[in-house]
Amino acid sequence: MPIVLRNGLVLTMDDRRTVLARGDVLADGEDIVAVGPDLEVPEGTEEIDASGGIVMPGMIDTHRHLWQTAMRGYGADWTLTQYFVWYYLEWGRKFRPQDVYAGNLLGGVEALDAGVTTTVDWSHGLQTVDHAEAAVDALEAVPGRFVLAYGNIQQAPWDWAPSAGLRDFIGRRSWGDMLGLQLAFDVTGDPAFPEKAAFEAARDLGLAVTTHAGVWGATNDDGIRLMYENGFMTPETTYVHAATLSPDSYHRIAATGGSVSVSTESEQSAGQGYPPTWQLRHHGIPVSLSMDTSVWWSGDLFSAMRATLGADRSREHLEAHLRSETVTHCHLRAEQVVEWATRGGAAALGLSDRIGSLEPGKKADVVLIKNDASPVMFPILNPYGHIAFQAQRGDVHTVLVNGRVVKRDGRVEGVDAARAAVTQTVDHLMSELGDAWLSGMNPDIPETKILDNPYMYTNYRSS
Ligand SMILES: [Zn+2]
Repeated sequence: MPIVLRNGLVLTMDDRRTVLARGDVLADGEDIVAVGPDLEVPEGTEEIDASGGIVMPGMIDTHRHLWQTAMRGYGADWTLTQYFVWYYLEWGRKFRPQDVYAGNLLGGVEALDAGVTTTVDWSHGLQTVDHAEAAVDALEAVPGRFVLAYGNIQQAPWDWAPSAGLRDFIGRRSWGDMLGLQLAFDVTGDPAFPEKAAFEAARDLGLAVTTHAGVWGATNDDGIRLMYENGFMTPETTYVHAATLSPDSYHRIAATGGSVSVSTESEQSAGQGYPPTWQLRHHGIPVSLSMDTSVWWSGDLFSAMRATLGADRSREHLEAHLRSETVTHCHLRAEQVVEWATRGGAAALGLSDRIGSLEPGKKADVVLIKNDASPVMFPILNPYGHIAFQAQRGDVHTVLVNGRVVKRDGRVEGVDAARAAVTQTVDHLMSELGDAWLSGMNPDIPETKILDNPYMYTNYRSS
């Protein structure tokens, strides 16, 4: 049955950034068939009242470790080092296939709830093919659009990427518009470049590579240079974070056409480096946005847009102040972060012909932001600014993916099934960890030294 969203403020995000103060979006089958005011629609079309709301393209998250969603909030006070110790060294192996399934199910539903219609599942917990089967089972159980970025932190990529097991798995499952495939691994900078075999496997399989690059203490300029010198930097490559890199590496990324997935909340808190959009803008590198993991953060690109604007402007002001200058006009605009959250993600995934904007012929991935009970949803004067700084995921009223309503009147499908699966995973991990459960969640706080204060010797009393 066709569906029309009526009388919304429509941000098409088309090439001309057309904004309709009052317009309709008509979906039929999988596709958008018309965008405009007062559309004539076929008989039997379902009407959704979008008045008072903003209609925008579904958002696209290019880097989420969905399998970790069952540990929601656990690592809120972690650094990247503590994350690496917990997942890579100590406890990552305790995740069974059903635990990957549970995390993916919950994370996938959460993404739809927040208006994220396409998510790259950066799935580096696939320690066996059974884990990979479970990951895909979950992604297929959620009516969102996904890209499985296949990875395995428990084994070297030059072992798992060329393996027959991976090829068999790829041959067994079905891939397409709703579920794409990439390979996900990191490049250590070892001069012998052992990752070469993994890149060759990706090339043989016709798959893009996504890689955590420019992560303080983990990956650096050497990895970028080795990729460049061996011909593995392509327009399809996604560089995640790219926060601790030299201008030379940014030039190599720009020249080879790849894009950077910026996870600002993650970079600000975990320590990969300063969120790099202020650098990427200068180097002309395409940007998409991502939320990384729910171990700290949410699956909510409103947070990503807001944090990214703040971090970029914060840095611009700081750099100017260091030169005794004042920024009078911000370079980064709200419109730009909305673009990164939509079109930017589509471009990074090579899907610009299908998603990222509201135009006839594109897939009907549509978000209605509307909350008549909220004092924050009026007046809507600057729609891009409203999305970036005023709206939040609770205001996501309706979500369509591939022409199908997956969230209606503020309610998303699939929450109960995800809760049941995740409850079992949490029980399993609590029993495996024992006393380490609480200590892992509560890392030691380093001592804070209070500075000597010359004013302590006066008679002043604050109360
Ligand atoms: Zn990551």
